[in-house]
Parts: sequence; C-alpha cells; structure tokens
Amino acid sequence: MDFTLSDEQRMIRDLARQVAREKVAPRAAELDRTGEYPEDIFQAFKETGLLGLAFPEQYGGAGAGITGLCLAVEETAKYCNASALILLLTRLPTSAILFYGTEEQKQRYCRGVAEGKLRGAFGLTEPGAGSDAANIQTTARRDGDAYVLNGTKTYISGATVADFFLVAAKTDPSAGSRGFSVFIVERNTPGFSISKPLPKMGVHGVPITELHFDNARVPASCMVGPENQGFKIIMANLNALRPVVAARGLGTAEGAIAYATDYAKQRETFGKPIIQHQWVQFTLAELAMQAEAARLLTYKAAWLVDQGRYLDREAVPHLSMAKAFATELAVKASGDAVQIMGGAGYMAEFPMERVYRDAKQLTIVEGTSQVQRLIIGRALLEGTLSYW
Ligand SMILES: Cc1cc2nc3c(=O)[nH]c(=O)nc-3n(C[C@H](O)[C@H](O)[C@H](O)COP(=O)(O)OP(=O)(O)OC[C@H]3O[C@@H](n4cnc5c(N)ncnc54)[C@H](O)[C@@H]3O)c2cc1C
Repeated sequence: MDFTLSDEQRMIRDLARQVAREKVAPRAAELDRTGEYPEDIFQAFKETGLLGLAFPEQYGGAGAGITGLCLAVEETAKYCNASALILLLTRLPTSAILFYGTEEQKQRYCRGVAEGKLRGAFGLTEPGAGSDAANIQTTARRDGDAYVLNGTKTYISGATVADFFLVAAKTDPSAGSRGFSVFIVERNTPGFSISKPLPKMGVHGVPITELHFDNARVPASCMVGPENQGFKIIMANLNALRPVVAARGLGTAEGAIAYATDYAKQRETFGKPIIQHQWVQFTLAELAMQAEAARLLTYKAAWLVDQGRYLDREAVPHLSMAKAFATELAVKASGDAVQIMGGAGYMAEFPMERVYRDAKQLTIVEGTSQVQRLIIGRALLEGTLSYW
C-alpha cells in the first residue's frame, strides 16, 4: 500500500494550486456577485493544460486520468467552486464518448475539449425526472439518416458557453430504462435552443439553463454507443464523475477549514484567540479528521475509475461513498466555518458566506446524497459490499 502521490501527480497538484492562487482566488467573489462566466479563468486552464488532464494523449490530453483531474479540482475548489466546475465540465459531457464513442467522435469532442477548442454540457435532468432518470420524457425518433428529438432538459450547467451537449433521450419510450439512447447535439442544430440562465443559490460563475428540443434533427452518426443502451452509458458517465464531484466537496471543505483556522488564530474573545476555546478547536479538529477521510475516499474512487471499474458492481458503492461523504463534508465544514467566524461569517465581505451557498449544490448534483445511499444500500443488500 502506497499513499504517496507520483512525481507527475505532485506536479499537477502544484500547478493547479498556483493557478488557483494567482488566477482563480482573486476573481471568486466577483464571479459570485456578477454571475459572469469567467472566460479569463477558462483561458488560464487552457494555457496551463489543465483542461486536458483527464484525456488520453492520443486525444490531446495529458493522460493523468480522473485522479489527475481530481487533484486539480480539489486545489481549485479551495478558492472557487464555480471554477472547479469548469474543470469538472471537461469530463462530464465526454466520459461517455471516451468509453463508448467512435474514433471520429473522440477525435472531435474529446480532443476539442482537451485542447480548449470546444466546451460541452451534460443534459440528463428534466422538469419531471431527476433522481428517477429512467423516467425522462425527451424522445428521439429515427427518421432516415437522423433522429428527431423533442423534449426539455433543465438545470444544465455550463450550457451558455457550450458548443455541444451530451443528451439522453428515449428511442423506445415503452421500454423504460432499456429504451434510452445518448446523443451529441451541436449547439447550432436547427430546432434546438437554450433558455436564459435560471436564477440560483450559488456557483454563480457557471450559469444553468433549460435545453429545448423542438423537432431537433440530429445525424444518426451523433449517437454515442448502441441504440437503447443509453441507460448503462449514462450511468458509466455519472459513475466516472463521482470522484470529481467528491473532489469539489473535498477542496471546498479544506478551504473552509484553512480559512476558519486562520481566522480563529486572529480573532480574540475573553482575552484569548478563539482557537484557544475548546469548542472552536475541537470543531476544527473534527473537520480535519473528516477531511482526511474524505481525501482517502476520493482518491480511492478516482483510482477505481482509472482502473476502468466505473461499472464494476464491487467498485460502484465506493464511488457513491466518496461523492456523498465529501460533498456533505463541504456543507458541514463551510457551515461550521461560518459559525466559527460569528457575524463575520454571515457577511458578504468575507468568503464563507459564498462558500456555504456554493457547497449546498454538491449534495444535490449528479445524484443526490439520498441516491448515493440507495446505491450503497443496494450493494449491501446484494452482497457486492460486505464487511464479513
Ligand atoms: C446547480 C445545479 C446544477 C445542475 N447541473 C446539471 C447538469 O449539468 N446536467 C443535468 O442533467 N442535471 C443537472 N442538475 C440536476 C441535478 O442532477 C438534479 O437536480 C438531481 O439529480 C436531483 O433531481 P431533482 O432535482 O429532480 O430532485 P428529485 O429527484 O425530485 O428529488 C427530490 C428529493 O427526493 C429525494 N429522493 C428522490 N428519490 C428518492 C428515493 N428513491 N429515496 C430517497 N430519496 C429520494 C432526493 O434525494 C431529493 O432530496 C443540476 C442541478 C443543480 C441544482
């Protein structure tokens, strides 16, 4: 057993840390206030090669896998969750393409994203179907050499700047999860449009929108993987991203602990720094223990995905554990940091108010905490997760 990072992984972490401190941190509060997508931060990620971390070299990437991406996301999320999401969005709309796409699709979309020439978004959720993804209503009807899509997707992150969308639709509406297929939809497809950004609680630097398909005609060559195998393909995609969402949670928690610790060393009450009061010190110690546990879960989950085990029934509950644990810790750590800072924690003048709002997204997106527990519970029930 070896808990050390490789030389290459240390270099990725150090590079991401430098970009986060120099380019991301100074902009975080402003992005939250203006809701503007940070083109300058995207360019900084592009110039430093961080956008290509999790793509193989033959598609223009660095070949550092999901583990490399997690290291960069963790460092970025210490300062700005929206910027960490920009890194996550490199693989959210492309993992399915990498696993099941044609060589042509990989060369266009994976290479395009790795090199910062294209941006993608992921369209699964609908007004009537989130956790219950098999219940989506968007349809794709075959018509000659194309599919005609009709329906609405909602809460789609990064759609305002995306060039293409990975979209799930029903090709056999009577077949439930066996009637699902996955398509790449280019932004300029006739009949396809996106709504205005939807107002939300946090992560304002990356707007979310609805996607509308009104007889949108997509070439049949844009299907990812075989027809009606889409549910498995979407699950592979989501499972591969669990460690990356976990890394957003981990970085958020670590940033909150670090900030609250610094604050507690400076702020004095009753004649001593508040870190000398037992509740403050024990709260920080408790969070530090949990952050170490979250890091182990996250890195292990990333390693499992990099072993190609994103659909392996013994690996899948561990991906869910990392996602649920690290994202719940992000909410707890940022909430505790607000409390440790007292009134200052609540004020927009200080970062924890934003960090707390941003953190809450993480226990909802890409499978809620409850859905992760369903997956873990089912593994216990079936015996693919056992402690005997
Ligand atoms: C900021 C933001 C960004 C997002 N970005 C994207 C994106 O880019 N692409 C995309 O496709 N989607 C995106 N989503 C959607 C997100 O993935 C869904 O909101 C999420 O999967 C939950 O679905 P829902 O909102 O329909 O909640 P519901 O499924 O309606 O769930 C409501 C509540 O019931 C609980 N629940 C549901 N079923 C069960 C059950 N069987 N047992 C116990 N509890 C249950 C849930 O945990 C939740 O607490 C985004 C959402 C947000 C908030």
